[in-house]
Amino acid sequence: MTILKDLVERLGENQVSEAHFEGANIVLYTREKDLFLNGRDKIKDLAKEFKKRISVRMLPKLCSSEEDTRNIISKLIPKDAGVDHIIFDPPRSTCIIHAEKPGLITSKSAEHIHNIKNKTGWAPEIKRVPPIKSKLIDSIRSVLYENADYRKKFLNQLGESLYQPKSDKKPWVRLSFLGAGRQVGRSCLLVQTPQSTVIMDCGIDPGAEGHDAHPFLDAPEFDISKVDAVILSHAHLDHSGLVPLLYKYGYRGPVYCTAPTRDVSALLLLDSIKIMHSEGKDGYFTSEDVTQFVLHTIPLDWESVTDITPDLRLTLYNSGHILGSSIIHLNVNNGFHNLVYTADMKYARTNVLEPAHTYFPRVETLIVESTYGGKGNVLAEKEADEYMVQTIIDTFNRGGKVLMPVLGSGRAQEVMVICERLMREGRIPKAPTYIDGMLWDITAIHTAYPEFLGRNLREQIFNKGNNPFLSEMFKRVGSSKERKEVIDMEGSCLILATSGMLTGGPSVQYLKSLCEDKRHSLIFSCYQPRGSLGHRIREGDKQIQVAEDGKMRAYNIQMDVHKVEITSHSDRRQLMNYIKRCQPTPRKVVVQHGESSRCLDLASSIYKTFRIETVVPRNLETLRLR
Ligand SMILES: [Zn+2]
Repeated sequence: MTILKDLVERLGENQVSEAHFEGANIVLYTREKDLFLNGRDKIKDLAKEFKKRISVRMLPKLCSSEEDTRNIISKLIPKDAGVDHIIFDPPRSTCIIHAEKPGLITSKSAEHIHNIKNKTGWAPEIKRVPPIKSKLIDSIRSVLYENADYRKKFLNQLGESLYQPKSDKKPWVRLSFLGAGRQVGRSCLLVQTPQSTVIMDCGIDPGAEGHDAHPFLDAPEFDISKVDAVILSHAHLDHSGLVPLLYKYGYRGPVYCTAPTRDVSALLLLDSIKIMHSEGKDGYFTSEDVTQFVLHTIPLDWESVTDITPDLRLTLYNSGHILGSSIIHLNVNNGFHNLVYTADMKYARTNVLEPAHTYFPRVETLIVESTYGGKGNVLAEKEADEYMVQTIIDTFNRGGKVLMPVLGSGRAQEVMVICERLMREGRIPKAPTYIDGMLWDITAIHTAYPEFLGRNLREQIFNKGNNPFLSEMFKRVGSSKERKEVIDMEGSCLILATSGMLTGGPSVQYLKSLCEDKRHSLIFSCYQPRGSLGHRIREGDKQIQVAEDGKMRAYNIQMDVHKVEITSHSDRRQLMNYIKRCQPTPRKVVVQHGESSRCLDLASSIYKTFRIETVVPRNLETLRLR
């Protein structure tokens, strides 16, 4: 590869022994401690000139033994930092130090980092230990460390394919809808240029069965052997649910997303396999395919620009929807065209997150969601919060339990933050709040990545030392036995459980046990797709059929049913505001991810109000963007 050769030549072969790609970045391995420790300015200049991120590490064989390194680190780092464990990645000469307070290691003008490098030769990476322990998070992370050799090779090959010479073909950009065209579900958008084939999201339609639940992966435009990259906006299964299927079909390229999106997706995907098996169905993929997804993920921070193919540059921005959820910005062929895909987006500050990002260096095509894009979809969120609180109080007063089916990530943590505050302030009676199974792990992930939380919550955690997720009122429910104890216990409580649409999982188990008692309440808080059990109950069905041991059993809905229209999506007003505030003003808006009438309605209002061209594609339609 010429770029690596050029770099080695510039620094001298006596300085650099090996040069590799790590995805879009370059790593130089050296024998020279001076270059490793003090070469920063020299490397910075080269990085500017070559327009790449470059780092220098010692050759693996020159690093101290793992045992010595552990001892040295424990002497160098202050006890207050709370070092929990250290993992070594020998092929990359990197040691990953997991600490309770990473800031105490990285601050003080990086003195500790320098000392570790100087005394051991290892390049330290500092990671936060989540204050809530989760075996699942540990096992996701260990996948990466156990396959360090493979990952080093994968990242190097990826770099080589990124930096192939640009073709001199005339540029163009096409966008095809393999899903989410005039529907909520199975999001999957295919972007093609003369040199790239990339898909944004690959989700499932939770309200459909069999092939109708999948995106159109049989479209003539889609050829899995030609896919260069997958970009994942966020962890919800209608966006992430079939990413492992791509690996099952033989894809071995990268998935770009934020680190919390990787972790939460892996949890939700493993859980979706479990649910399918418990219903006696074959899963679409196995846990091995989920492992492949984790192994090939390249985590990106918001607002850092990365080359992902020879003619595509990717930047992720906060979308305000759930932890780590991102707006995707693609710069095609050095500014020839810029497209922004908001995916699921909330343009308002919530208790947990900042509002969606609106400012971009450039944008010509904006692809926007329309879940609540219809004229009537204006939500009174403050009133809805109050309504939820009143419903909880009323139910508690009559000795009932409140069941809230929630998506694993998003509304659940919002509700936790609201309830913790209200119970602390005495506005709702104190009662245990049960967080079922996987929700607990996802909440643990929230505590692992505070940098992705909204400013107010971060402030509360770091400056006031009050992390609401660690409150004693939250109790974990981890097994069927514990679930039964919650159901049988005397007195009131709040139960948060997945799935949010009552399409399986613990929420359905609670429903079956609680639904025939008038004292209890059911509060819906997320979108209920047609075909789901949640949709039927919300629409007023009083008798439902639920599969049980292969047979259908009837239940009467006697409990109070409420819908609280607060969502982690933008409502109609917020969507229109977003278009208004989006900078620069896009030339074309593509409306998708909404029921047909809502998409059409939003598109027509955008045209009438802002005079921006709009398109509302159906599935399988392809647009030429330029
Ligand atoms: Zn979502």
